[in-house]
Amino acid sequence: MDKPTVQEKVPGIVIYTQPSPKLEWLHLLRQGKLSIRQHLVFLIFLLFVPLLAIEIYSGFSEYQTQRQVVLENQATNARSVARSVTSFINDRVSNNRALGLSFLRQAPQDLESANKFLADYRRPIPFLTSVRIFDLTGRVIYADPPVLVGLDFSQQPAFQKLLNSQPDSNGLHYTVTDLRASDLDNKTPVFTVLVGIHDASGKLIKIVGSSVDTTKLSQIFDVKIGGRGRGSISIHDTQGQLVYNSQFPELKIDERSNRQTPSVMAALQGQEMSQPFVKSTLDGVEKMGASTPISVIGWSSSIAEPIEDAMNPTINLIIPRLASFGLVAIIAVLAAWVYSRYLAKPLISLRKTAVAFGQGDLQKRATSNRHNVLEVAELSHSFNQMADRLEKETQARDTFLAQAAHELKTPITVIKGTTQLMLNRLKKAQSPNGTIEIPNLNKHLSNIEHQANRMSDLVMRLLEHTRLQAGRMEYQFENIDFLALLNRCLEAALRLTSLDRHTISFEGLPSTPLLPVRVDTARIEQVVLNLLENAIKYSPEPGKIQVELAIKETGEYMQKPHLVLSIKDNGIGLSQADIDRIFERYYRAETAGYKVSGLGLGLYISSEIVRAHGGKLWVTSSGPQQGSTFYLALPLEQVTAPAELPTKAV
Ligand code: ADP
Repeated sequence: MDKPTVQEKVPGIVIYTQPSPKLEWLHLLRQGKLSIRQHLVFLIFLLFVPLLAIEIYSGFSEYQTQRQVVLENQATNARSVARSVTSFINDRVSNNRALGLSFLRQAPQDLESANKFLADYRRPIPFLTSVRIFDLTGRVIYADPPVLVGLDFSQQPAFQKLLNSQPDSNGLHYTVTDLRASDLDNKTPVFTVLVGIHDASGKLIKIVGSSVDTTKLSQIFDVKIGGRGRGSISIHDTQGQLVYNSQFPELKIDERSNRQTPSVMAALQGQEMSQPFVKSTLDGVEKMGASTPISVIGWSSSIAEPIEDAMNPTINLIIPRLASFGLVAIIAVLAAWVYSRYLAKPLISLRKTAVAFGQGDLQKRATSNRHNVLEVAELSHSFNQMADRLEKETQARDTFLAQAAHELKTPITVIKGTTQLMLNRLKKAQSPNGTIEIPNLNKHLSNIEHQANRMSDLVMRLLEHTRLQAGRMEYQFENIDFLALLNRCLEAALRLTSLDRHTISFEGLPSTPLLPVRVDTARIEQVVLNLLENAIKYSPEPGKIQVELAIKETGEYMQKPHLVLSIKDNGIGLSQADIDRIFERYYRAETAGYKVSGLGLGLYISSEIVRAHGGKLWVTSSGPQQGSTFYLALPLEQVTAPAELPTKAV
């Protein structure tokens, strides 16, 4: 949770605002406040959401396709039922016609025998409730059961329709009534097939009717629909009454109205239609189905199946797939959760190390963990390298500060002591004639001056060091003759030491009148003098210092003609380890009992100055006590006329 931001707009009234929780993750992500664990979970989320969307989409389209297949199968089945109904009606028609013709030909004319003829015909056909022969007025003249004789059928629309129609192209002349209650018991749901019988001249003379008990139609349409057999066949008449339903064949006559669905209504209008979802008016089950017209009689046939039955096999394939996908996502999140611990652990430990180091425990180092992630291992390694360097730097700085304090303390002590001595003598030396005489006054004053100069040198170095650190060292370049500069330095060096202790010899290029270089004169003098001073300082008496100067062509030590000044001493020498580090700031080599004062800054400052001149400074030594040689290389300038160089007297 992000901390609430506190705003005090009106003095005394504090308003807390909280980032919107919805965007909190994004907010934290942007602010870099998510842990590795949260990043991993976020990554998995980013990966899985599109995959899940694809999976859901493909499951959905698979479901759609399967539903289409089921609906098409149902339409095919509905059509085949429609064909069965049509052929059943056709059978009925031809049977009625045959009955009518044979009746006219063979039947006895008395009522009883005629009825018996009809009874013999009906008996073997279980679904026929009655057979009757009408005259053209609609009156039943013969019938089985005989009770129907005399019944008036003229008001039946199907009867009227038959009277008003003509035989079809096959010579068949018939109509079918809609569903109605049997005339016998007034409750059995029946429909009657009416067939016209014609004489040889084609004149309609009689009508044969046979009524079919619709509750017995299961024997004819005994079809199992759907995987679990819970599918049903329905047949509706022109009024939409349910003539037959395979699931509920025994339905009472008054329960057969208002059972039509939109697809049934469409089929009664002559349109085939499928419905992916419809609630059954019979059992309330959610079903899918298709209806198709039975065109010859204007009825419809339908197939319906519980959605559950039809679609479950597909759903049973999709759901486990989605579930296993979800399971994989959960496992991935858990794995990321656990794995993040493994990833974060070395980082947390590295952080602790860094904190401890930052608080001053300079010995603290990151432990190298075998299980570390490569980058973390590299980071630990880099951290340790940085820590090593910082530790060394800090130690060097501490030593340097102690040394600097010591270096400054010595001249101050001398100055203080000498001044006190002089003051004491001053008090005692007051002569009666008013004149003051202090013995060795000159010696004391030059001692004070010498120590003050030492202090000033030290302070100068410290200042230059801070300037170098801040990148504020400024140079004033000019074209000069290097020989002149060198001579001044040699003279100054000779003043530093008496000739009986050290000898300085100079060799090189007597025939070369000018060595033109472009340098900051004061700084390069400082460098050369520093090298000469060191050669004196680090050579136990009597030291022998050899100075040489040479001119080198392009490519020897740099890509330009250049001069090389070498200063060779027979002093305490240097080990290879010292040679490698001698130009680092604060570095002072172990001088094995040979006590020499210094700050370890001179060579560092010199090397920086030489670098700024495009030159080179390096050292060689055959080892401790073998002496050492310092080299300074500086690029030579092309001088067109000697007059360009200022002539400085040596
Ligand atoms: P300082 O002399 O003030 O210590 P420098 O930077 O001039 O500082 O020298 C760094 C170190 O290099 C010295 O402490 C010394 O150990 C070593 N060194 C310099 N010049 C010589 C030399 N000519 N012979 C042997 N060691 C030297």
